[in-house]
Amino acid sequence: MLAKYGDNVLNDSGMKSSSNVWKILKEGGKFLKPIVRWKVGNGERIFVLNDIWLLNRCLNEWPTFLNCTGLENMYLHQLFTDSGDWDVAKLAMYFNEDLICIIREVKMDVLQADLLETIFKFFGKSISGLAYEEVLRRKEIFWWRLYKFAIPSNHFLKFRRLAEEDCCARGCLSVENYEHIVVHCKFLQEILECIRKWRFGLPVFQSLEECMLQLRGCSRLNSGLARIYCVAVFLNWKNRNLVKHGKNALPCSITAANVISLAVLKSCPTLVS
Ligand SMILES: [Zn+2]
Repeated sequence: MLAKYGDNVLNDSGMKSSSNVWKILKEGGKFLKPIVRWKVGNGERIFVLNDIWLLNRCLNEWPTFLNCTGLENMYLHQLFTDSGDWDVAKLAMYFNEDLICIIREVKMDVLQADLLETIFKFFGKSISGLAYEEVLRRKEIFWWRLYKFAIPSNHFLKFRRLAEEDCCARGCLSVENYEHIVVHCKFLQEILECIRKWRFGLPVFQSLEECMLQLRGCSRLNSGLARIYCVAVFLNWKNRNLVKHGKNALPCSITAANVISLAVLKSCPTLVS
């Protein structure tokens, strides 16, 4: 597998893979990426644009500070001199003066391989713990965006004339609006039904308004159930995005199991407030 796909799970090589193990590793890499950065060694494994090696962000998230043309697919060592220092003339071809000053502060050690380190050095927290928090953070952002009516549902995209169809991307034959995403989607209902069969007393909602109102009340009485419901909506939305991008959704039973493990292992205060 190493020979076929390489060892970089953080960046998508674009190579289509038939290996399920590699797909799982890549999926893990997606969650690792925001919480690790490279400690620069010889720069041979670090992509200038797509990896985090300068402060806490990828350079491609700072588009106004640099000339991206030519940096695409460039490795960091291509910006080094033969003697193992930053090549200032080359830096000047791509970055402005302020950014060059920051880059030159980064110490490399060309005798060492590049190594990953965590961005936030929380003592006592494992990498898997940090990746797990990243999933929770995404879930919170999703719900925050739902409350702000800022989720790109097909109904929203059609309204903005960015899409022609407004039906559920999973094929429910209903308009994919917020109420559908949070309450009525057939696939959400299947996940919730699966969880109910495991003896979790999840509430049943008829409308978005009722759902939002009761989730607040339910969170005061039994925050665990409110959290399970919120996670189920979030993971169903993730499945929907997989389908929308031509991939296979996880089966409802597996998604339901993921919902429980995500919801019961960690509390998430902003979701239940
Ligand atoms: Zn649906």
